[in-house]
Formats: sequence, structure tokens, C-alpha cells
Amino acid sequence: MQVLIAGAGPVGLSAANVLADAGVELLVLEAEPRLPENLRASTFQPPTLDLLARFGATAQLIDMGRVAPQVQYRDRSGWVAELDFGVLKGDTEHPYRVQCEQYKLNQVLAARLGAARVRYGATVTAVEQEGDGVSVTVNDVERLRAQYVIGADGGRSRVREALGIKLEGFTWPERFLVASTPFDFAQVMPGLADVSYFADPQEWFFLLRVRDVWRAMFPTRAEESEADILSDASIERRLQRAYAKGSRYELAHRTLYSVHQRVAETYRRGRVFLAGDAAHLNNPLGGMGMNGGIHDAFNLAEKLAAVIRGEKPEETLAHYEPQRRPVALEYVNTITIANKRNLEMRDPQEQRRWRAELAHAMVDRAAHRELMLKISMIASLRKYECA
Ligand SMILES: Cc1cc2nc3c(=O)[nH]c(=O)nc-3n(C[C@H](O)[C@H](O)[C@H](O)COP(=O)(O)OP(=O)(O)OC[C@H]3O[C@@H](n4cnc5c(N)ncnc54)[C@H](O)[C@@H]3O)c2cc1C
Repeated sequence: MQVLIAGAGPVGLSAANVLADAGVELLVLEAEPRLPENLRASTFQPPTLDLLARFGATAQLIDMGRVAPQVQYRDRSGWVAELDFGVLKGDTEHPYRVQCEQYKLNQVLAARLGAARVRYGATVTAVEQEGDGVSVTVNDVERLRAQYVIGADGGRSRVREALGIKLEGFTWPERFLVASTPFDFAQVMPGLADVSYFADPQEWFFLLRVRDVWRAMFPTRAEESEADILSDASIERRLQRAYAKGSRYELAHRTLYSVHQRVAETYRRGRVFLAGDAAHLNNPLGGMGMNGGIHDAFNLAEKLAAVIRGEKPEETLAHYEPQRRPVALEYVNTITIANKRNLEMRDPQEQRRWRAELAHAMVDRAAHRELMLKISMIASLRKYECA
């Protein structure tokens, strides 16, 4: 085997498709017995759509999801600032976000790879560097060897642990609740964009529409118990505060999850690389975690393919970490933390500063484009790709 990939998430499967298209022999090892269908990220940013288009996956995401050309910032009193990805027409083939559940991308990417390249029920339990290769233990018993290994096995990465790499940063005290409902908020909130953030120092929230449901995200208080947060009554109270509709909300799905801002101290040990959540975790405000992970996957897999095919020297692999780690550290971390702070901001002066910045972007095309280049993650790719 030339490359073994731990994890059949969006990151592992993107890397696997790049490598398979380049004719590299690879195997994806996935711990679960089948592809998980849990609801997690659902925002695909413009440059991610540009990358996935080469697999034909972007057209399928558009079919299965919803094109979202605008993003809005609002408050409960009726203030609205709207930004438009259309200003990026000259910068991307896809000047919009697509909202679609990430597991649907995984299904498309796994089907494209073919059954022989993904092994389910295969947990990577140990990883050891061995001279000119890497030895990977599966389910504690079987040993496989490869020239290179990609750890795309998520936030609790066993690969990262086996290499003794620390995930540095912090965990927010509050967890985030996501509740989905078929209730159509756009019918009762005139002009509501499919991605809308509501600022409120007491309880901000975020409404995001996928194909058939709206997902509402709320912060929770550190002292609330998981059972309380996920109870019908408590979710109902939060949704009624977002929009008091009088009757009960129908719930399609609920998840509570811990939120981190953490980056691995290194993305590489010898012939083993980390990518995606295994390498970095951030809060979901801005829809950057999965997208940044997919950008890691393309960057790394293209380099590995070129080195394995003898088109580029081995030193090419040294560029992966300087091109991708600063994006997680300086860019995604900074923007997602700022997004959270802006939504929960109490200081009136700071609130005015943020609103003035958005108001300026709405009337000044150059400022609008500059902001959208950042929000869409195009700026992060351009700044570091030639590092
Ligand atoms: C509950 C939850 C909700 C989320 N919601 C949002 C959201 O609303 N918005 C947002 O932007 N982001 C969200 N995220 C983050 C987003 O889902 C991730 O950034 C994205 O999934 C990262 O992709 P990945 O491929 O790196 O990792 P993952 O998607 O986690 O995939 C890793 C894969 O590796 C497998 N695996 C794990 N350990 C092993 C092992 N030892 N051996 C083999 N396989 C293994 C797992 O089963 C999994 O299939 C959420 C994350 C979680 C956990």
C-alpha cells in the first residue's frame, strides 16, 4: 500500500479521491461499520466547491442541498446587515455557499472511490514509523504497512495520540445546541437569508437552512445539564425565544456538542500527516472547520501523489505544514473567535464598531469583496498556498 488513510470523514475521503485519481494505491480505514449519517457541518464554502467540482461532487451537493448566495447578521430588534457572495464572481467559479449535510458528501465521495478502497469496522489502534514506511495496527491485531499515513480520524484522533502530538488551545465552557425543525422561519421573518446570525448579549442564535429543514444553533450555559438542554421543554423555550410562533415547534433532530479552539503542535511526524479535525478544531460560527479540513486534504494529497509518482522531490512534503497550520492558527481561529465575540458582544461601543464595519461593506464594493474573500476562506488559501 502506498497510502493508508485513517477515517472516512469528508477529509479522509477527499484525500483518498485525489490520490486514487492520480493512480496511487490507497486504503481508507474507517472505525464505524458503515458511513455515519449524523448531522454535523452543512456549509460548503466557495473554494471548497471549486475543489470538489473535479469529482463531480459540487453539482450533486447543489442538487441535494440549497444554494445560499447571501449571509445576514441581525439582532432581535430588526437590524439587518446583508453580505453577498456575488461580489466574488471574478474570484471563484461558485460565488455562493451551498448548504447540505456533510454525510451526503461522504456518500458521494465513498461511492466514487469504490468499495475496495474503504474498509469499515477497521479502527486504527497503533501507528509506528519503520524506516522507509509506517506500520499501522488495525483493531489491535492486524498490521498493515504503507509508505505514508494520513490521520484524518477526527477530533479524538488515535493517530495523533500514537504520535504523541498535543492539541493546543482551549475548550469553551459552554456547549452548542443544534435543533432542526421543518418550520419555515423565512415565512415569518421577511427577507431572511438562508444563513442568518442573530447577535444578542443574552443569547445569540444562528438560523441555517438545508434542503428540508432549518437548523437553529444556540449557546448553552455551562451549568445546564445535558438532559435539561436536550429536553423538549428547553429546546421549545429556546426556539420560541428565536421566534414566538405560539404553537409548538416540530423537531427533526437535536445535537449538543463541545466547542474547542485547538490546533495540533505539528501536522507531521516523519511519514505520518494529520489533516482535518485531527489537526484543528474550532467553533462552527463561520462554517470553516470542515472546509479547512477539506483544503488540508487537497493540499496534502496533491503533494503526496506528486512525490509518490516521482514528479516532485520528497522535500515538497515539507511545505504542507507551513501552508496549512497558520490557516488554522491565525486565520480560522481568529475569525471564528471574532464571530462568536461579535454575536455575544455586550459593550455598546464595540457593537457600534462592528455594525459600522458591516454597514461600510454594504456600500463600498471593494470593502465588501475584501470581507467576503475572508469569510469565504479564499483569502486563507491565497495567502498561504505559496508559503
Ligand atoms: C457533533 C458535531 C457537530 C458538528 N456540527 C458542526 C456544525 O454544525 N457546523 C460545522 O461547521 N462543523 C460542525 N462540526 C465539525 C465538522 O463536522 C468537522 O469539522 C468535520 O467533520 C471534520 O471532518 P474530518 O473528516 O476531519 O473528521 P470526521 O468527520 O470526524 O471524520 C473522522 C472519521 O474517522 C473515523 N475514525 C475515528 N477514529 C478512528 C480510528 N481510530 N480508526 C479509523 N477511523 C476512525 C470516524 O468514525 C469518522 O468517520 C461538528 C462536529 C461534531 C462532532
